[in-house]
Amino acid sequence: MTETTSEMRTATRTCPLCEAGCGLEITIARDEDGFERVQRIRGDMDDVFSHGFICPKGSTLKQLHDDPDRLRTPMIKRDGVHVAVTWVEAWEEIAARLPDVIDGHGRESIGVFIGNPGAHSLSAMTFSRALLTGLGTRARFSASTVDQMPRHVAAGHVFGSAVAVPVPDLDRTDHLVILGANPYASNGSLCTAPDFPGRLEAIQGRGGKVVVVDPRRSRTADHADEWISIRPGTDALLLAAIAQVLIGDGLADVGDHVRAYVGGLERLGSAFAPFTPEAVASPTGVAAATIRKMAQDLAAAPTAAVYGRIGTTTTEFGSTTSWLVDVVNTLSGNLDRPGGSMFATPVAGGATTRGRPGSGKGFQVGRGHSRVSGHPEVMGEYPVGSLAEEITTPGAGRLRALVTLAGNPVLSTPNSNQLASALDELEFMVSIDLYLNETTRHADVILPVPSQLERSHYDLLLLQFAIRNVANYSEPVLPLADGQPDEWEVISKLSLIAQGLGPDADPAIIDDMVIDGMIENAVKDEFSNVFGREPYELRGELDAMGRRGPERMIDFMLRTGPFGDGFGANLDGTSMDDLLDYPHGRDFGALVPRIPAILRTPTGRIELAPDVFVDDLGRLAAAVPALTERDFVLVGRRHLRSNNSWMHNIDVLVKGRQRCTLQVHPDDAHALGLNDGGVVRVTSRVGELVAPIEVTDAIRPGVVSLPHGWGHDLPGTQMRVAAEHAGVNANVLTDDQALDPLSGTSVLNGIPVSLEPA
Ligand code: SF4
Repeated sequence: MTETTSEMRTATRTCPLCEAGCGLEITIARDEDGFERVQRIRGDMDDVFSHGFICPKGSTLKQLHDDPDRLRTPMIKRDGVHVAVTWVEAWEEIAARLPDVIDGHGRESIGVFIGNPGAHSLSAMTFSRALLTGLGTRARFSASTVDQMPRHVAAGHVFGSAVAVPVPDLDRTDHLVILGANPYASNGSLCTAPDFPGRLEAIQGRGGKVVVVDPRRSRTADHADEWISIRPGTDALLLAAIAQVLIGDGLADVGDHVRAYVGGLERLGSAFAPFTPEAVASPTGVAAATIRKMAQDLAAAPTAAVYGRIGTTTTEFGSTTSWLVDVVNTLSGNLDRPGGSMFATPVAGGATTRGRPGSGKGFQVGRGHSRVSGHPEVMGEYPVGSLAEEITTPGAGRLRALVTLAGNPVLSTPNSNQLASALDELEFMVSIDLYLNETTRHADVILPVPSQLERSHYDLLLLQFAIRNVANYSEPVLPLADGQPDEWEVISKLSLIAQGLGPDADPAIIDDMVIDGMIENAVKDEFSNVFGREPYELRGELDAMGRRGPERMIDFMLRTGPFGDGFGANLDGTSMDDLLDYPHGRDFGALVPRIPAILRTPTGRIELAPDVFVDDLGRLAAAVPALTERDFVLVGRRHLRSNNSWMHNIDVLVKGRQRCTLQVHPDDAHALGLNDGGVVRVTSRVGELVAPIEVTDAIRPGVVSLPHGWGHDLPGTQMRVAAEHAGVNANVLTDDQALDPLSGTSVLNGIPVSLEPA
């Protein structure tokens, strides 16, 4: 991955900051003291997926690495103040205090929160399960219930696997409908597609059409052929009406390619009958004729795809909306065909490539329930909105300790003032993080991890949702700082201490256990390319390559994956050694149809009308008056230079015009006496804040918008640049009690608020 000259070298790596996974070209030079310094970061023109595309965040990995506020030693809170300590002291502190909590309250009294950057960390992806096992707790919370769980719940019920998430085949589609997403600001999400904007323009360039449905005229809407303004939280009604037109007008045709595998079609006609365009026009704010035209266009286009994202999943009908996206794609004949809505074939394998193709155990939720409010478990997690009550509510099983990994829930989860207070009630808290931020300031011990340039990378999770089948492994660009353990070693050691093995436990114990478990599973899988092989032989071959940690695991996953060499079974197959010969990534081609092999439902069919969603249509219909009557509702928004809560300490990304403003439509501003540049008091059921006003006709009347991830003015943090650009925390207003009951995901769009001049 590195080309070297006598004075400098060039390395390539995948940007780990967001789901787009752009290829970067990084130039490094040695300074006069012999230290290697990053000189320049730009897009890798030869990257097989991103072809040189990069956004402003990607080039700031250097600033992130050099940031003086980034933690380089562990911190322990002493007398209310965090002080730098050695790794030995940090491990001894944890070994002295964590077992006390376990002995006193049991393992279920330890909660774990994993933040969004965990999904972009190879170490977190490969070792966080070992952490949970070591802690012995099921009290797991993550950023998934902040925005993406509904998409997994829909995939689970319809296709049998939570990661069988179809993505729009952007490079071949003729007609794309985007709901609640703004890829010009944030590229794709649950749709890995570097240069998403360029791919949208290519659709238009080849004569296709892009339609954006959003309460805001976002940058994406500005570039689209058509912007359809919708009332927040009503996408499910719109999609149900499109489905009603497709069926009612005889336009529905799932296509011969999947017809034999589609189950439940006969239920849909009656299920959608009440949702005529005329019935939903008022609550959605979209004219009936527009809805009919949307359905007709989807049916008539040579190929088409509907793509729904955060604006649709962070609502009280998030899961049902995601299901409806799949229903419309199926009814319009676009599921699993080129140009439609397709499935990736992940090169490193995954739940959709392992085990028996074509059927499985299906998807289950509710294998446990949260202690206080009884929320069902979903994918091994509980709603992050319930984390605070699990800490503060007395009784058996009350959370008394918390481990956070790459997360800042005090800024990124609902009713965050309540959560911040709850964290102070914990007996012990450990955070694994780059920064002393609004959440980790509550921690008793903070364990720093290497910077993004000091880590290896492979997008294990996100390439499962890519619009091409690609694989791209990146070696660390810079060596680990002296004394800094790798992230997987930090996670593993914490797991071992929780198991009572003390501060000197060797992380290699976990590493070996995990790889042995993977090998055992693979050789027992009759559909694996190593079925029946001797585990010790495979382990020997892996170890002979001299790799440990995530690298050894990725090598094993690649070799046993759908394109793998099978440890000699397929001489042309891939492996870690093979990928190292492709510094710009290896392209395994466009997406290919995967039905029926991808299905993991017990029936071996696409369950297009599962009870859970058909029944939820009744709740949707009943909610129409409430959705229609709200005066003002709050929605979020994203910005190209922002990445949730954690990159606001990079000066080049936050300088310039204030971006944390409350957008208000001119008519609303006039009626309320609000002026552009003034301030407004915003109040919700759970909190209030005062925000700067931005009057703009880019937002629908009755809707106001505030970006999330801001509010960096809390004491006890160490993010000096962010503090100078503090902004206000939108999650002071969002409601921990408001969630999608099918997935436990918080409602962040469509929060009722009131406004008054401040
Ligand atoms: S869009 Fe930006 S942040 Fe995301 S992967 Fe590409 S360069 Fe990185």
